[in-house]
Amino acid sequence: MNFTVAIDGPAAAGKGTISKAVAAHFGFAHLDTGLLYRAVGRKVMVSDASPEEVALALTAEDLMGDDLRSAEVAQAASKVAPIPEVRAALLAFQHDFARRQGGAILDGRDIGTVICPDADVKLYVTADPETRAERRFQELSAKGSDTTYETVLADVKARDARDAGRAEAPMIAADDAVLIDTTNLSIEDAIASAVQVVAQRLKG
Ligand code: C5P
Repeated sequence: MNFTVAIDGPAAAGKGTISKAVAAHFGFAHLDTGLLYRAVGRKVMVSDASPEEVALALTAEDLMGDDLRSAEVAQAASKVAPIPEVRAALLAFQHDFARRQGGAILDGRDIGTVICPDADVKLYVTADPETRAERRFQELSAKGSDTTYETVLADVKARDARDAGRAEAPMIAADDAVLIDTTNLSIEDAIASAVQVVAQRLKG
């Protein structure tokens, strides 16, 4: 069975958690496409190669390591993400993943608009920037980071502006995406809404 779910939205809106839960619920494979851009951003920071060269030579090992999730790497990712050659280099991998047998969920910024415009289900998961920054701040503090809420909010806003403002594959909801605003929603309720949308579409 081919069944593709595209989940887009800004950082810390809950799309990663929702994607994982929906994938587990239906037994679909899940690809967090942000990791691809993070891997390119992280390698570019320490390499003489161009972002395009790095993207073309990406290996499974490049997708490992805890620091891939760091705020610094997130900013580096959003700086290489506007480069058309970087996006083009990552396209085939994402397309292949989306066509897997047994169902696939991809989450990112341009899945419903560019990568899988024919996805069976498109969700756009969002929340206001202050709520997203507060969640990310709590997460980082729990891990022992001494960052401040203000720093996290500034990071979230800078990344939103870069991701939404770029010419190539900007972060935007597809016209046919179902919107899930998690500002005032518990994660359980957000997951339940997403599961319901997918279940309905699976029934045909
Ligand atoms: O989702 P995550 O926060 O890990 O993504 C890191 C960065 O990678 C984003 O801020 C964005 O610049 C870029 N990205 C993208 N397209 C995607 C996924 C991520 O441009 N499909």
